Amino acid sequence: MAVKKYDNPDLEKKLHDTRYHSIDTNPEFTKKVLDISRTIANMCYQCGTCTGSCPSAPRSSYRIRLFMRRAVLGLEDEALTDPDLWLCTTCYSCTDRCPRDIAPTDVIMAMRNLAFKRDIIPRNFLKTAQLIYSTGHGVPNNDVNRAARVKLGLTADPPTTHSYPEFIPGIQKILNYFELKQNADRMLEGE
Ligand code: SF4
Ligand code: SF4
Repeated sequence: MAVKKYDNPDLEKKLHDTRYHSIDTNPEFTKKVLDISRTIANMCYQCGTCTGSCPSAPRSSYRIRLFMRRAVLGLEDEALTDPDLWLCTTCYSCTDRCPRDIAPTDVIMAMRNLAFKRDIIPRNFLKTAQLIYSTGHGVPNNDVNRAARVKLGLTADPPTTHSYPEFIPGIQKILNYFELKQNADRMLEGE
């Protein structure tokens, strides 16, 4: 995209320093986010209701409205390399409340998929993928939890893959289809 030139060097610098004044805009990124998320992200009018509903926002620098803006403007690198992308809890409060019937949650999920394809993903997510593959749980049961469960009158293990490990191969089959575990192993190799 051609950038207009000004005679005033200060103005020129200011315009180029502006966070959203970018020659890196990628309209293809916007299209991909729309295709994967299947929501009308480009209809966002930046009202901020999503951020106001977000439980992550008061506890972190994560702002869903900012990611919506990045989606609309095609700011691929800014969106996919920002660690805040991984702070959404996928609670769907923003989706419930968006006055434009957009699903910001699905925009985030689409961006995470695109980031994953570029090997941009936090280590803890990769380790979680490995744990789901081996146990069926992102956070497997442990002795402390088992003791607490028994004290509460529950079985030591919940009625999940912990009690029915015969279902783990089914989970592995799904993860193998998407090569999730293989990619996690590759990216964590040597750790
Ligand atoms: S609530 Fe909807 S319209 Fe408002 S900023 Fe968020 S995504 Fe955009
Ligand atoms: S789904 Fe994610 S972005 Fe939306 S309110 Fe919940 S934590 Fe925030």
